[in-house]
Amino acid sequence: MRDLDKFRGCMIGGAAGDALGYAIEFIHEKQIFSRYGRDGITQYALRGGVAQFSDDTQMTLFTAVGLLNEKARAQAEGREADYAQGIRQAYQDWYITQAGTYPVSSKKNSWLLDVPELFSRRAPGLTCISAIEHGADGSIESPINSSKGCGGVMRVAPIGLFFAGSDVSFEQSDMLGAKAAAITHGHELGYIPAAALVHIIRAICESSEKKLADAVAEAVAAVSELFSGVKHIGYFTDMINLAAELAKSDCKTIDAIHQLGEGWVAEEALAISVYSALKYEDDFDMALRTSVNHNGDSDSTGSITGNILGAYVGCEAIPLKYKDELELIGLITEVTDDLFGVGDWESRYVDAK
Ligand SMILES: [Mg+2]
Repeated sequence: MRDLDKFRGCMIGGAAGDALGYAIEFIHEKQIFSRYGRDGITQYALRGGVAQFSDDTQMTLFTAVGLLNEKARAQAEGREADYAQGIRQAYQDWYITQAGTYPVSSKKNSWLLDVPELFSRRAPGLTCISAIEHGADGSIESPINSSKGCGGVMRVAPIGLFFAGSDVSFEQSDMLGAKAAAITHGHELGYIPAAALVHIIRAICESSEKKLADAVAEAVAAVSELFSGVKHIGYFTDMINLAAELAKSDCKTIDAIHQLGEGWVAEEALAISVYSALKYEDDFDMALRTSVNHNGDSDSTGSITGNILGAYVGCEAIPLKYKDELELIGLITEVTDDLFGVGDWESRYVDAK
């Protein structure tokens, strides 16, 4: 059965990990530990009095709104929903927040364009910017580039939430995760991890009994099937299996992360996140701290870890220190509640034009 607390945990947890890691995204380990002490960064570094999140959470919000726009409009127009197209249009709106200024005078697709705080460049991935600038029309069949950067996987968690408890098959929702990533990332390893993340999030949101390790194993099996025969699938599944094995071992956390990479590319970002979430599945704080304190792409590994573990433990279990100063937490909660289908959610999605 679906649980609103798990949905909020996924979205707020992701934003929390993003915000914790954003302060140290481009800082080397040695500097992190000399600046913040031997535990590394353990609480938000505030900017302007708030914990700012980065492009990861911005794009995650646009993914959610793309799904909801398409659901509401397809219902209103009595047609079948094309969710990949809804997400594509929402990414074009995100691009407006990065390239344009508030307020927007032209036709609006997403109501998020009414939120001035989103018009802020937070180290956006250049692959995303460039792919959207060139039409945002990448697909699995017609790759837009050969990038496997983590910009495809770090934004797709809402797809797992959206389809949790629905009649849509896991194959379809996993594939939509891959399609959403392939809009901007054309390498197999740019979009396969997105399918796996969607599977993990959906599996843990459909059952409170589901063990995280089982959800990860199921995701690995599902993408192996979905992408069987694809060149890099074995490399990807080996990587996620290694992350799960390392989480059970007594390997030092920083050494385990070094074995998995730095997270700039999608398969490493998901592997580090799976490792951090499994290693500290009962301790959101330690999981998040582990996921960001390393050489690599700290905000994306923090964001994905927060998505996974937040969904697993629920929002109530996220320590207050991660909620108190989190930027736009009210907006994140609103969008999440719309994904869950709380109250009269449709109107602003149908009317957003
Ligand atoms: Mg970022």
